[in-house]
Amino acid sequence: MLEKFNAISMDENNRKEFIEKLIKKYKFIKQEVLSKSLCQRDINYIQIGNLDRAPVLFVGATHGMEWITSSLLLYFLRDICNIFENNGRIVGVNLKSFFKKNALIVIPCLNPDGVEIQINGASSAGKYSHDILKLSDNTNFWQANARGVDINHNFDAGWEEVHELEQKAKIFNPAPTRYGGEKPFSEPESLAIKEICNKIKFRHVISFHSQGREIFWDYANFTPKESLPMAQLMSYGSNYSVSRPTGLAIGAGLKDWFIKEFNRPGFTIEVGLGSNPLPISDLPKIFDELFESMALAMII
Ligand SMILES: [Zn+2]
Repeated sequence: MLEKFNAISMDENNRKEFIEKLIKKYKFIKQEVLSKSLCQRDINYIQIGNLDRAPVLFVGATHGMEWITSSLLLYFLRDICNIFENNGRIVGVNLKSFFKKNALIVIPCLNPDGVEIQINGASSAGKYSHDILKLSDNTNFWQANARGVDINHNFDAGWEEVHELEQKAKIFNPAPTRYGGEKPFSEPESLAIKEICNKIKFRHVISFHSQGREIFWDYANFTPKESLPMAQLMSYGSNYSVSRPTGLAIGAGLKDWFIKEFNRPGFTIEVGLGSNPLPISDLPKIFDELFESMALAMII
């Protein structure tokens, strides 16, 4: 069923080209600009299906060196479009009927500046380039946005507690990773999520990161009861473990805020295994191990 592919990394040019081809080929999907990053790059979302029922949101590349998640989401979307067009089924569900009343919304790259800095260097961050070079002499390990704020530490869910832990870890200022900003939602990239989640009532959200082959599903005592069985179902499809975060990963992230704000299920899936940035040659394996779980997550 799955199309074979020569996977490509998703810097801005490749991502744009890939999405343009997809939109040209499949008239039933649409792309919208959700917001702009600090460097004025578009933060886009792509929608397939109709919003009769509350849709599902997939988010990729919140972290610069985890752009393999953008590739994963776009190849997933391409296969879904292909199956839809050919009147096919996944996990027993006919996608043409499914998308009459259901939708999937994909933000392939929430942190386009961070991805660009990691793949193409500090010079791709315009007026922020100079500061980035002061923060890091090796942007190969860049995770943050263009002003050194880690988007996944910038959400309003236990932000103060995480901020204290950052300080204990001697992270006081903008940095390549794990600095949560001056206050929750100080960054346009985290605000973009707040905006779309307030506009569209998602039934659940999955934030894709790398790496670890793990599914995180809970946040404090806000977690709805269906979260754990959903994580277990995704784990059944992928053999990824169902985990609880520790240390600096315990709050202020996208899934944490979504769970707290809406009492709906939110997940972080850590794709693949190895050292970040995972090589693009890992993508076909990640795609194969996660396809069914992603399909289930889109449907349930
Ligand atoms: Zn991450």
